[in-house]
Amino acid sequence: MSDPLILSGKDVSQSVYENLKDRISVLKSKNITPGLAVVLVGDDPASQVYIRSKTKKFNQLGLNTESHRLSIDTSEKDLLNLIDQLNQDNQFHGILVQLPLPGHIDTQKVLEAMDPRKDVDGFHPENAGLLSIGKPRFIPCTPKGIMRILSHYNIDLTGKHVVVVGRSNIVGRPISILTSLKQAGANGTTTLCHSGTSNIPGFTRSADIVIVALGVPQFLTGEMLKDGAVVIDVGINHIDADTEKGYRLVGDADWDSISSKISAATPVPGGVGPMTIAMLVENTVEAAENSV
Ligand code: NAP
Repeated sequence: MSDPLILSGKDVSQSVYENLKDRISVLKSKNITPGLAVVLVGDDPASQVYIRSKTKKFNQLGLNTESHRLSIDTSEKDLLNLIDQLNQDNQFHGILVQLPLPGHIDTQKVLEAMDPRKDVDGFHPENAGLLSIGKPRFIPCTPKGIMRILSHYNIDLTGKHVVVVGRSNIVGRPISILTSLKQAGANGTTTLCHSGTSNIPGFTRSADIVIVALGVPQFLTGEMLKDGAVVIDVGINHIDADTEKGYRLVGDADWDSISSKISAATPVPGGVGPMTIAMLVENTVEAAENSV
């Protein structure tokens, strides 16, 4: 089989930013600068990296961001008060609470405290419900980015078997809903696999498109795929390596093993990751437009 097509989220994200420029200019001409308030509780290094790359992009595009870095022992009450304050603050059209939150805070309670019209991550139950009935307001950024990559590369899901591995509320479950919606570009037949699934290879071998989002390094191998499958690799995993940093990034698919079997795949890094940030910007711009 010839070399697989690389589904470059990095390239697709550039076209997203190009398209957003006009929308941002229109808003600015009305004295509205899309703004995102970011809340981080604790000092988890991975969360700090994610927040830095997100806010950097907002700054590059001339958008507003404000980061609230709270200590790990912040009480749930204080966090809820901050959310309430941000809900009222017209400067910020979007609010992002970086997950995971420390164990003493009820994550669901915090997500539900957010004004759903500012919930640019799409995690509020109202937004999750709207998505599940096919009338989305804010679609969670990672699954939305995956759908954008598929449409950019003209990968139509109609009549295709899509297998998703992983059922988290932020990736696996929403992408299983999106891929099976009755709408252009979607309309796939989706199977959602998870840790309770027996014989995952039995499902992935019949899949036209496999979306791996489980957080297990190099889980998906060539023998789990049929010839010509498309692989969307959501995983971001650090594994020990003889590099300057002492690790390297790998996805949930084993590239060396799958590359001779597949027709196309997203790389790690440079695949789904850049699209997650692009969709966060897009959702924030949309929230600002909706506020007019
Ligand atoms: P998560 O909340 O830990 O969920 C993992 C899911 O995978 C769960 O549903 C779990 O099953 C399932 N799972 C775990 N091990 C499994 C196994 N051996 N076999 C079958 N299913 C298994 O993870 P997540 O937040 O969805 O993230 C998944 C991966 O994507 C991680 O590597 C994360 O870093 C990455 N990620 C990347 C981006 C991006 O922008 N590229 C964004 C978000 C996440 P149960 O439900 O039964 O526990």
